[in-house]
Amino acid sequence: MQFKDIIGQRPLINRLTRIIDSGRISHAQLFFGKNGYGGLALALAYAQYLNCENRVNYGTVDEERELRADSCGCCPSCKKYQQLAHSDLHFVFPSAATKAVSSNHSSKDFMKEFHSYLLENNYYVQLEGFFEYLDIENKQGQINVRDAAEIIRILNLKTYESKYKIMIIWMIEKLHGAAAPKLLKILEEPTENTLFLLVSENQDKILSTILSRVQMVPVKKIDNQSMSQYLSTLDLPANLDVPMVLEAAEGNVINALNIVNQSVQKQLFAEMFVVWTRQLFKLQMLSLSKWVEKASAMGREQQKQFLNYALESFRACFLKTVAGVNLSYQLDFGDEKFNNAFPGRITERNIEMIEKSINKTIYAIERNVNSKLLFMDLSFSISKLLK
Ligand SMILES: [Zn+2]
Repeated sequence: MQFKDIIGQRPLINRLTRIIDSGRISHAQLFFGKNGYGGLALALAYAQYLNCENRVNYGTVDEERELRADSCGCCPSCKKYQQLAHSDLHFVFPSAATKAVSSNHSSKDFMKEFHSYLLENNYYVQLEGFFEYLDIENKQGQINVRDAAEIIRILNLKTYESKYKIMIIWMIEKLHGAAAPKLLKILEEPTENTLFLLVSENQDKILSTILSRVQMVPVKKIDNQSMSQYLSTLDLPANLDVPMVLEAAEGNVINALNIVNQSVQKQLFAEMFVVWTRQLFKLQMLSLSKWVEKASAMGREQQKQFLNYALESFRACFLKTVAGVNLSYQLDFGDEKFNNAFPGRITERNIEMIEKSINKTIYAIERNVNSKLLFMDLSFSISKLLK
């Protein structure tokens, strides 16, 4: 991870690189702020810069540093860092038992998955997302006593290939009370050339004894200009309301990406809905079966989401017909002719049966009934109800 790949945060990056270049490096630092502001990504880029053999920096000239100070990205150390394969880079993070890993778990058991998760998401990650990735449901993850023992074991290893051994502890607020004393002792009396980079979302939940032993590095919201620049590098839907995304994201790139994904999904569903209901009026078998083929090729979760979208859309149409209520967000199908003409077809005569048929289909999809048959069946039922 290089600083150039961090979204925004240049003032903080300048401060950090200046401190590294001056050699006044604190042995324990806490990067704190929402995960979507980039604390973990910054910690990684910081570690890579520190160990880079060919840093790009500009001495003390701030205007130049403003744009450029960074690791080189191509020396042996940087290359290993970028694959998370450097032997002096270590991670500890909250973990929980899974079907495959017993109750004696620690972050060591999930290291491979953690690395892939970070690389796939460019280091902008959340604990819930990671647990979903691991298929851990509703479990309180913790950094436990086995993690603390592992930290001590690693720090006592003598051989290392670079000047600094880096220990990144992600989500330090999840440190279990029983594991704290061991960690406190090392933070108090660090081994030589070991750097602790702690990352946290919620400093209020961190033990005060830990807080008093670290240097605080506040990570603030990503500014709108940087966020907007980042979004412009993505393949966004044409009608995406970027200012709305920026406002709702509140400087948090994970929020922004969630909003974008929802919007992409809604657009896809709206297009499917329009094609589908048009087929239901005409009932041409060939084109209808093509649609059914496409719908049943989606994953079951997505099929359910589409049906829920259809359910809400029919309801919104009904409300417009009978009460003149215009839920404009739900009633924008991206096709003006359809937007105007379709809602009137949903009345008290058919809404109840439409809802019933869709709910029945969702229930059957959850029970793994053949989805091609289900979508075909549903299409015939609704087609009758629309006429
Ligand atoms: Zn380098």
